[in-house]
Amino acid sequence: MNRSSNIVRVSIIGIITNLVLVAMKMTVGLISGSVAIVNDAINNLSDALSSLITIVGTKLAGRKPDKKHPYGYGKIEYIASVSIAVIILLAGFTGFTESLDKLLHPQQVNYSHWTLIIVTVGILVKFFLSRYVKAEGEKYSSESLIASGIDAGNDALISLSTLAVAAIYLLLNINLEGIAGTVISFFIIKSGIEILLESMSAIIGERIESETSQKIKERVCSLPQVKGAYDLTLHRYGPEKMIGSVHIEVDDEMTAREIHRLTREISTIAFSEFGIIMTVGIYASNDNGEVQKQMKQQTQQLVSDYPEVLELHGFYVNEETKNVTFDLVIDFKCDHKEKVKEEITGKLKAMYPDYTFFVVIDDDFSD
Ligand SMILES: [Zn+2]
Repeated sequence: MNRSSNIVRVSIIGIITNLVLVAMKMTVGLISGSVAIVNDAINNLSDALSSLITIVGTKLAGRKPDKKHPYGYGKIEYIASVSIAVIILLAGFTGFTESLDKLLHPQQVNYSHWTLIIVTVGILVKFFLSRYVKAEGEKYSSESLIASGIDAGNDALISLSTLAVAAIYLLLNINLEGIAGTVISFFIIKSGIEILLESMSAIIGERIESETSQKIKERVCSLPQVKGAYDLTLHRYGPEKMIGSVHIEVDDEMTAREIHRLTREISTIAFSEFGIIMTVGIYASNDNGEVQKQMKQQTQQLVSDYPEVLELHGFYVNEETKNVTFDLVIDFKCDHKEKVKEEITGKLKAMYPDYTFFVVIDDDFSD
């Protein structure tokens, strides 16, 4: 079975389980007149709905790329997670207003032993469902499954509190329905906000995890002709599809044939080992000559006075045109990038008046 049919299978198990819980809890909740149990049932109904959205999201995300959407539909999964978060938030706010009402106007409740049995069964079922869904979500790296799993875990706690409220009522005759309902709804709202922020952040596009970017750069640099790997970018189109680019530094005497073979090899490695469709850009390096070597060293020295400059790369001296080009990776926090660039080129020009310096400011895309 492939990833998407596995996600669908897990989601269907979730939907059926939740609908059974909804029917049972709704029945005992209405018979006993417990707003906490009814809220709990509504909350489970929102889970069934959110699982349904997970299925729809995964199905749509699995669509083949086409002319209009050549990067595929993978990002739909993030949008599905946003929808789930909205449903959870709605359930949370509904629960909050109803509990507030019960807090202000407490009513008589009639718990039976059936109420207690069904609520207890509900807690256990939710607990095991949560662990199962979350584990499967991690296995298939599905944001929406993990989100559903976390939500089911919170729900087990919510059900547990309804049991506690019933026990306190039966033993001590204290009605905590309203308070419990209010607290429950705050937890629901909190988990909704968290899922919302997380999936939105994924849609906006996040920095590559430091560990991953360093691993990719190290692997590229492990090829003997590669003198350095820079400017690594990575765009995610859903959890399964990544498109990226990297700039490598090679000796300027390499032929087109050699560069062709090298960049092909890098693209193959990127795809087979990291699942990335990688474009490779080339910087030539010619720091073997005395002048170039000295000039590069002095530039490095100069740049080291600027803590906002994180990296210097792509240094190249064209002796025929007397042009020098290099890139500076400058910290996002720096708000005077142009000034830094002008200062550095000014100092270099003073040292080497015969040369012209062209500096590109790079964004700090990855570690
Ligand atoms: Zn660069």
